[in-house]
Amino acid sequence: MARPLTADIDLDALRHNYRLARDQAPHSRSVAVIKADAYGHGALRCARALEDLAPAFAVACLEEAETLREGGITAPIVLLEGIFEAAELERVEALGLWMAVHADWQLEALLAYRPARPIPVWVKVDSGMHRLGFPPERAEAVWERLAAAPAYACDLHLMSHFATADARGSGYFERQLGLLEALAERLGAPSCLANSPATLAWPASHGAWNRPGVMLYGSDPLEAANAASRRLAPVMTLRSAIIAVRELAEGEPVGYGGRWRAPRPSRIGVVACGYGDGYDRHALDGTPVLVAGRRTAIAGKVSMDMLTVDLTDMPEADIGSEVVLWGRAANGEVLSVDEVARHCDTISYTLLTGVLPRVPRRYH
Ligand code: PLP
Repeated sequence: MARPLTADIDLDALRHNYRLARDQAPHSRSVAVIKADAYGHGALRCARALEDLAPAFAVACLEEAETLREGGITAPIVLLEGIFEAAELERVEALGLWMAVHADWQLEALLAYRPARPIPVWVKVDSGMHRLGFPPERAEAVWERLAAAPAYACDLHLMSHFATADARGSGYFERQLGLLEALAERLGAPSCLANSPATLAWPASHGAWNRPGVMLYGSDPLEAANAASRRLAPVMTLRSAIIAVRELAEGEPVGYGGRWRAPRPSRIGVVACGYGDGYDRHALDGTPVLVAGRRTAIAGKVSMDMLTVDLTDMPEADIGSEVVLWGRAANGEVLSVDEVARHCDTISYTLLTGVLPRVPRRYH
């Protein structure tokens, strides 16, 4: 028998989540963000599954777009960070890509390039994330230069990224949005602003386009779930099995450093999944798992190829029992990747993108 560890990808759930994103922003067109290998789910398979629904895809860089084109994806693909060197423009044009422009050197490269056919350009403005983008006070000048170039004039958009769309109360989101609304009006620009949390919770930010990412994979990006985010369905199930069982006397430790000690006579299950597969080593004792569809918890430090779980109250669990690290168990029970992430002091994005290539993806 092969090592019992797979990342099972439910493409129907992906489509369900995409439709949910689309329905949240009915007047926007939703670009499916499939960068970082579709957040670890396999970009090409996800793009194929969404091809008839999504009017465009977004990736981080040219190499990711090339993989999609080589796989036969013909829909528009946006490079969210644009080019990394001027020489990439030829490939951008040849592959029919769209691109963000966030820096002066990219602007100059575009204006010097003169493509034979138009390249749709998204002008990225730094409205408060303070990562990439032109300062708002320079946006008009950048826009005018591109609008004066026939190759770019016909398909120009305003783009920005929110820093705090997942939470309410600080006023920072409203500040970013207010700045962008004023700018879009001055420029007469169609915009693309909303990520997943803004798609779910801030209708005022839904422009001509929006850019949902993590919600497509079933993770709820909101600090406080809302009616729509509760309907997201998990796409990836990280599934393994019990490969050994240990009976321990009270006080006996488990695993490296003996972090967990049996508080009573205990039964420990060894699971074929570890940090060498991408499971987060920061998972604390008490991090939930589903064994045969029932909740129990990690007991002891995560090792490279294994982790250990408490089976004391699960006499029915044995070697071969299904273990779901996150996702949906065979009996339908769900353990959200968001909940696991909280126990690891991280976010779902790192867990999902962190599943390593040695874990076979199985598509349903
Ligand atoms: N747009 C940009 C520029 C991004 O960097 C990301 C993700 O990091 C997204 C959209 C999608 O964000 P989310 O996954 O939170 O929906």
